[in-house]
Amino acid sequence: MSDAILAVYSPAQVVLERGEGVRVWDDKGKEYLDFIGGIAVTSLGHHHPHLVNALKEQADKIWHLSNMFRIPGQERLAERYCAECFADKAFFTNSGSEAIELSLKLARRWQWANGAPERIGFISFHGSFHGRTMGAINVGAQEKYREGFGPRMEGFRSLEWGDHDALKEEITKPDVAAVMIEPVQGEGGVREVPHQCLQGLRKLCDENGVLLIYDEVQCGAGRTGKLFHHQWIEGAEPDIMAAAKGIGGGFPLGMALCTDKVASAMAKGTHGSTYGGNPMAMAVGNAVLDVMLADGFFEGVQRVAGDLTQALESLKGRYPELVEDITGAGMLRGIKMSQDPMPLRAKLMERGLLIGTAGNNVLRLAPPLVATSKEIRQAVDIIDKQFFDIISRPGD
Ligand SMILES: *Cc1c(COP(=O)(O)O)cnc(C)c1O
Repeated sequence: MSDAILAVYSPAQVVLERGEGVRVWDDKGKEYLDFIGGIAVTSLGHHHPHLVNALKEQADKIWHLSNMFRIPGQERLAERYCAECFADKAFFTNSGSEAIELSLKLARRWQWANGAPERIGFISFHGSFHGRTMGAINVGAQEKYREGFGPRMEGFRSLEWGDHDALKEEITKPDVAAVMIEPVQGEGGVREVPHQCLQGLRKLCDENGVLLIYDEVQCGAGRTGKLFHHQWIEGAEPDIMAAAKGIGGGFPLGMALCTDKVASAMAKGTHGSTYGGNPMAMAVGNAVLDVMLADGFFEGVQRVAGDLTQALESLKGRYPELVEDITGAGMLRGIKMSQDPMPLRAKLMERGLLIGTAGNNVLRLAPPLVATSKEIRQAVDIIDKQFFDIISRPGD
């Protein structure tokens, strides 16, 4: 990688230059199955014709205006998302971290406007990842992302994942504004929060005057077979939700959604963004929704996700010494390994499969939602061959 790039990444050597659906090709013509999808971003695969057309058409009309002017595509996208979920209001951003930042601001502002200015605290859970801006690393539970960036900001704390007793105690503290949680933890190890825990959390928040914020940046956008993961769960709607990644299908787009109750605390001028909600992003965002809201789309995702689950479970059955568990939900899955998965990732790439990793020795799969059963089989076959090699040649 060029010395001119801030050395915070360690990208693979290959240069991927073209994509089509679930497949990508490098500059030497080698083909890969893309089962990480820009980390759960290319939700509809590469080079989706409807998305490409939407972007090209908008590019020929107007690129940018700022929010000094009405943006019809933005009004339409906000109305469509609000019609499809708990939310009454949407604000569009360029990234997940910005959506998280606004979520934090919404919660504090609502507490402040409702006579509780002392409620500035946020509770999150170990392993959670909410982005890389200052607010996001402070609400996120991973210390390594805060190291060297000053003391943790006032009010932010994280609890053990699944420690209900600690939560019940902490949430009664008078300085708590909100709880933030990923309904399916991505980065931290691809773990689904049990449904009854989210229902319990919703109740606890209500009983204590605390707001509930979901981070569906990774697990939303149809990833688990509904538009948003929490829609699988009765009685567990949030007050505020951040989404990004898959809602733009590869174009930078995020959003914070909230109820009218929460939104009522935000007066004119309390938030803004130069690029957020610009015509280009809105054109693509609407095109993504056109595809996802078409008849049968989510049923298709659920069916293929079922195939993926089966294939991964059988992998676990065949390689019990390598695979400890299959985690996650829908098309966001983890293979929890008994060994460091990093070297495996490179080997799988040589074999033509792109996948990611996550915390806790997990191989992370986030294929495009349009992957076919056949592509799922091909991908899992590649993993199978690699596992077989490890078992039969343990010295390698
Ligand atoms: C990726 C991610 C973010 C941050 O999104 P960016 O677009 O990288 O700022 C926040 N939360 C979760 C759960 C994510 O996976």
